[in-house]
Amino acid sequence: MQTRFKEARKAGSLNPDLPTIMVSACVLGHEVRFDGGHKKQNYVVNRLSQVVNLVPFCPEAESGLGIPRESIRLVGGPEGLQAIGNRSEIDHTPALQRWSEAFIQSTDPNTINGVILKKGSPSCGLKRVRIYPSTAQGAIPKRDASGLFAQAFTEAFPFMPVSEEGWLNDTNLRESFLIQIFTDFRFKKVCETRSVHALLEFHAKHKFLLMAFSPAGQKKMGRILGAAKEQSWDSLTKAYQQEMIAALRVPPNRKRYSNALQHMAGYVKDIISNAGRQELAKAILLYADRRVSLDVPLSLIRHHSLNPRAPDYLKKQVYLSPYPINAFTEPAGVR
Ligand code: SF4
Repeated sequence: MQTRFKEARKAGSLNPDLPTIMVSACVLGHEVRFDGGHKKQNYVVNRLSQVVNLVPFCPEAESGLGIPRESIRLVGGPEGLQAIGNRSEIDHTPALQRWSEAFIQSTDPNTINGVILKKGSPSCGLKRVRIYPSTAQGAIPKRDASGLFAQAFTEAFPFMPVSEEGWLNDTNLRESFLIQIFTDFRFKKVCETRSVHALLEFHAKHKFLLMAFSPAGQKKMGRILGAAKEQSWDSLTKAYQQEMIAALRVPPNRKRYSNALQHMAGYVKDIISNAGRQELAKAILLYADRRVSLDVPLSLIRHHSLNPRAPDYLKKQVYLSPYPINAFTEPAGVR
């Protein structure tokens, strides 16, 4: 089992032109759950798999608990967080912690662009995992823990895009995750160049995307780049990445999105007809008023950006197409 997953994680087998996402193996349909079953998520397997490298892992199976195995529960007592076998009452925490530490040690965050975790799992669940106050019979659980592996991983890599598989059924959360992983992928490609010029170009191309999520964050990132000469490349890119992921984690909001759209509309106002200007202004207003989806004004701007007289600065904006169209077949944007 360990060998199978290790093989799948070998960098050589991944397409370097696509983002790489680590995924709880059961979400990919691997039969690794305690009962030998899986929890395949159709969007991840059928759609996301077309545009990213998906790399499976299973903390419980790979740490030697076996398949099938007894189910485990989290217990939070004076000893800290423990993973206790539901049948044997054996404490499986040391095995899971050892595996998680080794996994984290062997993970190069520069080669990974996101993680998808199985919700509710005492190992992989990101939030609202059941935790019992003690091992006593009849103890009542609360839903406010993270799984053992999920907690260790997100502490080690706090700026890694992360999602539970269930969140991807929500169109806004799916779009937010797609934007995070593809932006992270583009950013890490720029980091490979070690060129401040390339980083400045990246920032310029992402201006309206970042503005839509967090105008304050976008300005802060600009200030970090403004002081580029005073920093080492590593501290510059680390500071920039922290702000970038924090900005992209801000929940979508129509007011901010409309503001970014209006800025973009300003770049085409002189090259389109009066009627075209009015149509675009109306589409932005309708969007702000929740009467149409983001696609309506964005498609108009995308269309006008194809005009040969449209400025290159607009044509290059990532906001016009932040991820491959086939990554999200449903209409994208804040609904
Ligand atoms: S939730 Fe995590 S530990 Fe449980 S079966 Fe899925 S991958 Fe394995």
